[in-house]
Amino acid sequence: MTGPALAQSPADAGPSGADWAAAVAAVRALPADGRVLLICHVNPDGDALGSMLGCALGLRRMGLRQLQATFPGPPGVAEPFRGLPGLDLLVPAADAWTDPDLVLCFDAASVSRIGDLADRLDRAGEVVVLDHHASNTRFGRIHLVDPFAAATSVVVEGLLDRLDVPLDREIAECLYVALTTDTGSFRFAMTTPAVHEMAARMLATGLRPEEISRRVFDTRPFGAVRLYGDVLGRAELEPEAAGGLGLVWTYATLDDLARHGQPAYVLEALIDSVRCTAEADVSCVLKQVAESEWAVSMRSKGPVDVSRVAVALGGGGHRLAAGFTGRGSANDIIAAIRTELDRVLAEPE
Ligand code: 5GP
Ligand code: MN
Repeated sequence: MTGPALAQSPADAGPSGADWAAAVAAVRALPADGRVLLICHVNPDGDALGSMLGCALGLRRMGLRQLQATFPGPPGVAEPFRGLPGLDLLVPAADAWTDPDLVLCFDAASVSRIGDLADRLDRAGEVVVLDHHASNTRFGRIHLVDPFAAATSVVVEGLLDRLDVPLDREIAECLYVALTTDTGSFRFAMTTPAVHEMAARMLATGLRPEEISRRVFDTRPFGAVRLYGDVLGRAELEPEAAGGLGLVWTYATLDDLARHGQPAYVLEALIDSVRCTAEADVSCVLKQVAESEWAVSMRSKGPVDVSRVAVALGGGGHRLAAGFTGRGSANDIIAAIRTELDRVLAEPE
């Protein structure tokens, strides 16, 4: 059930006081046995999972007993996230309640990012979208969307604070993993004083940052190290692409994964080894997911808004980090990216 849309804050501002109040009221209105379904985007990263699980643990602390956390696609989480607190709340998408009293949706800029779980929005009593993508399409009823937030977990902390939920070490670990994921461990442009202040609040609960970052970012099977060798060895540099700003790209096939006996998640960090190329502003990694289907990651160092390229090709993301699902051969997709880069550079923002 969805009622009339609430008055919306402008898409380029953070949530209004009315948005926060509506979200707080939606949670507070629940009886202790109210069913809350928390959903994050497909192929969840540290921000999606950490924001969702941190929020779920906060709701559990409030006394809510019926909580499910889920995401579309295969139900397992990647090895780096297997130590996250709150994983006991995860259920496969197929088992998620079809008519929960409240849906909370995390880090998904558009409804396509929650796949088959989209139907839960129609039958939920209330729907709150928590996100930080400027491109968020406002597909819920209540929107806590802050394009200035470095991670969705910043928005989650804001909600838990307004619900008077005290931070404990488990909640903090989830929100910290989310924050470090989306700020590139406090290296990216969104790393404001407020981000470090939030990190300080999380660390004050007794977190071990070195343990968390080793587990989440710095541990990889040896097979993945060899796989990276193959994939980085075929990287291409095109200095003339992107109007002379340069493009560097590579691809990893399903056969590469099979040859090294690796699961797909090990490729998530591959873009970081490609984007360091000094001679290119734009970097791109194509990860094959089916015969002619590829998950594409794009990064820019500043001059090019890669989210415009990704949106034009059916995806989305942020100015400096975006992605889409590409169809065809790797060469077809790179050709489409070259064309869109030229178009985006020719058209004013
Ligand atoms: P990554 O390259 O790390 O997978 O994703 C970078 C950013 O691009 C993510 O934060 C996400 O916002 C966005 N993104 C990646 N893939 C897709 C996609 O297929 N569709 C949409 N809408 N956004 C994507
Ligand atoms: Mn995020």
